[in-house]
Amino acid sequence: AIRTRFAPSPTGLLHIGGVRTALFSWAYARKHQGVFVLRIEDTDLERSTPESVAAIMDGMHWVGLDYDEGPFYQMQRMDRYKQVIAQMLASGHAYHCYCSREELDAMRAEAEARGEKPRYDRRWRPEDGKVLPAAPAGVSPVVRFRTPIDGVVAWDDQVKGRIEISNTELDDLIIARPDGTPTYNFCVVVDDWDMQISHVIRGDDHVNNTPRQIHMYQALGAAVPVFAHLPMIFNDQGQKMSKRRDAVSVVDYDKMGFLPEALLNYLARLGWGHGDDEFFTMDQFVEWFDLADVSPSPSRFDRDKLLWLNAQHIKTAEPQRLAERVAAFLTDKGVDTASGPALTDVCVLLKDRSQTLVEMADQAEYFYRPLVPSADVAEKHLTPDDEARLGFFAEGAARLETWDQASLGAFIKDFVKQQGVKMPQVGMPLRAKVCGITNTPSVDAVLALIGRDEVLRRLAMRN
Ligand code: GLU
Repeated sequence: AIRTRFAPSPTGLLHIGGVRTALFSWAYARKHQGVFVLRIEDTDLERSTPESVAAIMDGMHWVGLDYDEGPFYQMQRMDRYKQVIAQMLASGHAYHCYCSREELDAMRAEAEARGEKPRYDRRWRPEDGKVLPAAPAGVSPVVRFRTPIDGVVAWDDQVKGRIEISNTELDDLIIARPDGTPTYNFCVVVDDWDMQISHVIRGDDHVNNTPRQIHMYQALGAAVPVFAHLPMIFNDQGQKMSKRRDAVSVVDYDKMGFLPEALLNYLARLGWGHGDDEFFTMDQFVEWFDLADVSPSPSRFDRDKLLWLNAQHIKTAEPQRLAERVAAFLTDKGVDTASGPALTDVCVLLKDRSQTLVEMADQAEYFYRPLVPSADVAEKHLTPDDEARLGFFAEGAARLETWDQASLGAFIKDFVKQQGVKMPQVGMPLRAKVCGITNTPSVDAVLALIGRDEVLRRLAMRN
């Protein structure tokens, strides 16, 4: 069975690189009716925080990537790691090393003097016929993994192709610190083994860990999973995305008014493609996704494309869902939507003209309270002539039998004719006076939604 996982370290917010990794792991599991596991790698006590765990869970919930098992927490699995360390010591796949910091520093200095890569000289590694030094009293040893000395370690990376590393490149990795706590690479292996992960899909910043991890699987007699290392995401300048420079966390995209399905659609296209398809649903993505189609080269974040996709998803989203999010943005602006038109109707009217939900909320505001026209708009569209004409308009509008888009449309048409002017000479002042801006949907639809009493009240207002 296919089992994948997302294994974030809770040291900050959930960022979009992480979401892309989670998305590909999730899609692979979903496509193969497999299982998607969430695992929180919280053993770095100095950098892990409960706030970050909460942010990751919230972020996963916001994007809608549902997991089947977990969240598992590494800190709750300490006994299991210690048990496996004892097992590896007993089987001879690991050994105690009592080297002091000074000894290790001296080894490093000597290697550097010879122009070699610093490495541990395997001083404490047991070998047939080798006499080990006597264990110094009062020193707690580390546990080192007995890495094969000869040969190579190789795997067929599903994204990067075949990778082969000579074992001479690898040290005898420390798997437990002097206080007995396990180290990162070791925990990942025990977890992926215990959780029966078949496909490890992760960022290519972990590619250097893979050869070490493969050796540990083999020492444990565990099946080695398939690996797929995803390329990095660069910003539009071609630089590594950074927290300071770029919007990187999922909450940023929430606050900027993106729909989660648009963000996921966009992230799916970063490093993966299906012909010319740009706009698609997650169901389509799951159907089409294959690791073989993931590109090994880094991709570039393109905000304009994300905005375009967001606009497409806004057009096709359920108005009720749009209204829920837009309501929150309006509340933040202090706009009361309790009276006035139904927000879902407003969203239906605005959904073809908003790239983000923040933009939609900005436009929705004038349905609930008039905006103050800018000096420019007032000067152009609210001259004394315009105001006089709006006065006549209000008189006629007050007498309309029905107040809906069709009757308003007909009435405006007649009024334009009767005044001997062109449509914009009525439409633009009406928008400027009633809404406060001139960039609105069709004026009959807007007036219909705002409602007769409120339109007449606004028309009677003085600027
Ligand atoms: N915890 C690691 C990270 O946040 C991921 C480890 C893995 O996927 O193997 O980058």
